[in-house]
This record gives sequence, structure tokens and C-alpha cells, in this order.
Amino acid sequence: AERIVIKIGTSTLIHNNSQPNMHVIQSLANVLSTLKKAGKEVVLVSSGAIGVGMGVLGLDERPFKISKQQAVAAIGQTELIQLYNQALQKNDMVAAQILMTKDVINFPESHTNVMNTFQELLQVPNAIPIINENDSMTVSEMDHHTKFGDNDQLSAIVSNLINADLLVMLSDIDGFYNGNPKKSATVKYDTVHAIDEEIIAAAGGHGSKFGTGGMTTKLKAAKMILKHHQQMILADGKDPDIILNILAGENIGTLFS
Ligand code: ADP
Repeated sequence: AERIVIKIGTSTLIHNNSQPNMHVIQSLANVLSTLKKAGKEVVLVSSGAIGVGMGVLGLDERPFKISKQQAVAAIGQTELIQLYNQALQKNDMVAAQILMTKDVINFPESHTNVMNTFQELLQVPNAIPIINENDSMTVSEMDHHTKFGDNDQLSAIVSNLINADLLVMLSDIDGFYNGNPKKSATVKYDTVHAIDEEIIAAAGGHGSKFGTGGMTTKLKAAKMILKHHQQMILADGKDPDIILNILAGENIGTLFS
């Protein structure tokens, strides 16, 4: 794969509710830099703004009110980018922040503008684009019960837009199972070819809440990927070096293809 989008979830980036996992951030930055230096085009879609913002503000609990969450995210986002930037700079790389909304698929002008930005950025030899949803503008996408889910779909949209060869979705689970592994003994799928009823049921059914299961938005993302004849791999991100193993062709996680 030459053009790779990597999405990392809150569950992997944040521990103890509000502490950024520096091991994950540094090794992710190292891997992205290595790939970039090897001539690959890499884009990171990162969650975690609210979690990091909670840490900055010393909050123990995610605020219930959406507008408060948005404020926390605004504070957390700059801190998060700063952490990535510090980690990238050790590799002589810099972060390029893009805050997006689904406008990019709904409005031709937004689409053109973001495409132009990507086109230029991907050619900058020492820049790593880091994408997040623009939380200040996307109220409806927030799940006030637990956590964001929609960077999953955003990562698929980005993959579609830039015609990525692969979307690597890093989570706190090593693949897609035929049920929630935290609740019952289950079996992992090696490959998923279509998001059919069986697969939707495995993620908890149509109505399952984003934050409780986590897999619903990942399946929506997978659906977009499959529709565009692209590929996505869901894998455990606790050690981001796994990206290198995936790109080396090792059979890891669940492949949606
Ligand atoms: P992230 O923060 O990385 O986006 P989430 O915490 O939202 O991830 O989602 C991952 C979680 O989804 C897993 O830890 C697991 O508990 C849950 N889950 C529910 N159904 C499944 C399934 N069928 N296969 C794998 N994980 C599942």
C-alpha cells in the first residue's frame, strides 16, 4: 500500500479517562515518520481531543452538556496536536492539522478545497496530516453518553477522498468478532467481504449505541470502504508498530475487503 490512512481511537490513545498514552503517541509518530521517509503517503485520523482536554482541565468525568464537551474538545485538540508535534519533531517531521466535517461530501466547494489541501500536503516531505472532526461544528455527531464514534466514518471518508490503498483502524481490540468479546466468548473474523445482517448483528444490531459497542460506526466505515472497492484492517493499536507488520503482509486483525 502506498497511500495509507490510519485511524486511532480514544480507547487506545487515552488511559485513565483523561491521560494521553505517550507510548502510543510516540510510537505512532515514529511509525508514521518511518513510512513517510520510505516514500509512502500517510494520513492520521486521531480521536482523543475530549479525553486530553479533560486532563488539561482536571475533569474526572466527561461533561454531559454537548456545548461543554465542545469546549473541552477545543482545549484538548491543541494539546493533542502539540503532543503529536513534539513526537513527530523527534523524527524531523511536523504535524499538519485538518479539522473536517461531513461538509466535504455534501458541499462541492468544501470538497474541492479539502482535496486541494490534501494534494499539496501529501507532497510535503516532512509533514504528517492529522485529521479530526471539527467538534465545534458537529453537534449531532457527539455521543453524550460515552465517547465519539464518528472519526471512524470520517476516516473512511478521507480514505475515499484521497483514494487510499488501505485504511488501518486501530482500536483496543484485535479484530472484529461475532459478538462483543467483553461480554461473551466469541470468534474473530479474519476477513469480512460484505456488511450483511450477520455482521451487523455481531456488532450489536442496527440500533446499538455508538459509544457502548464501538463497532457500529466501524462497520459504517467499512461499508464505505467496500463500496469504493478499498480495504480496511481493524487491529489492536496498543503497540502502533503493528502497522509495520500489517504493511509487511502479516495476517493481523480483521480485513474488510
Ligand atoms: P475506539 O475508541 O478505538 O474507536 P471503541 O471503544 O468505540 O473503540 O470500540 C471498540 C470496542 O467495541 C471493543 O473494545 C469491544 O468491547 C467492542 N465491541 C462490540 N462488539 C464487538 C465485536 N463484534 N467485535 C469486536 N469488538 C466489539
